[in-house]
Amino acid sequence: MSTKLVIVCSRCGGLLLSNADQKTKACIYCGSRFIVNKAKKLATAKNALEASRILQQIKRKNKFNKTTIV
Ligand SMILES: [Zn+2]
Repeated sequence: MSTKLVIVCSRCGGLLLSNADQKTKACIYCGSRFIVNKAKKLATAKNALEASRILQQIKRKNKFNKTTIV
């Protein structure tokens, strides 16, 4: 299983999961496509399960920061 990255969309700040070997990623929130290498990385995970766990932890921490981006 390939390494997963937790990255931040450079346009809307949404949290996304990406494969470490993936070059570009389309944001599920705003639809913009950006280069994974240039995106802000929050965490690295060994597999998808760990990645989703990390993602949930970050989301929980950032609850107060919940944005109302349409
Ligand atoms: Zn986005």
